[in-house]
Amino acid sequence: MSDISLLNQQLKGKTAEEIITFFSSQYKGKLTFANSLGAEDQVITHMICDIDKSIPIFTLDTGRMFPENYSIIERTNQKYGINIKVQFPNHLLVEEMVEKYGINLFYDSIENRKLCCAVRKMEPLKRALSGYDVWICGLRRSQSMTRNNMNIVEWDTINNLIKVNPLIEWSNEDVWSFIETRHVPYNKLHDKGFTSIGCLPCTRAIETGEDIRAGRWWWENPEHKECGLHKK
Ligand code: SF4
Repeated sequence: MSDISLLNQQLKGKTAEEIITFFSSQYKGKLTFANSLGAEDQVITHMICDIDKSIPIFTLDTGRMFPENYSIIERTNQKYGINIKVQFPNHLLVEEMVEKYGINLFYDSIENRKLCCAVRKMEPLKRALSGYDVWICGLRRSQSMTRNNMNIVEWDTINNLIKVNPLIEWSNEDVWSFIETRHVPYNKLHDKGFTSIGCLPCTRAIETGEDIRAGRWWWENPEHKECGLHKK
């Protein structure tokens, strides 16, 4: 049995807090958390600040973010007394891409959209994860068809480290009940109908009854709706 399968077996039935506590003690100094500023990641930020504030937290600033993202970074830092690291893309790669394909290239084709995500998200993520053995994510199985076969612990083949999803079994209701009862600061985009937080030109609010990730790259088919950060 692989190490990943063993970890999944060992952590089966554990709470999200117990999963974070386990990795915080087993991978001290080698563990980081990528906060994408959505509701799930705010829940994890709250847990980390309770369990082990020394776990470094970072977020990616693609350069195409909503203003609400900057205010939730600020409010979170103030509430918990932390300093979320903001990781930017390589400006040379962004400039080259924009010069070649245009500023809004993502609307032209799936290939262009994936290129933009690679330059603005995947490359900076790789740098942010460099030197770590484990990263924590706020993925939930019920978020989308692209996530329904994910486990608590995964091997991230792109970045070559362990990925941990402490909220994998959580429902949307679990997330919001935690936020309300613990007074967790959340991104105000959620009050405007945004259920999944992404870049401004690629994310819209959803209508009642729509899938919670329907607002991401809404012009593409559901099976394409990942930026590459969470590919299996
Ligand atoms: Fe580019 Fe859109 Fe991907 Fe953001 S979500 S990196 S703007 S394609």
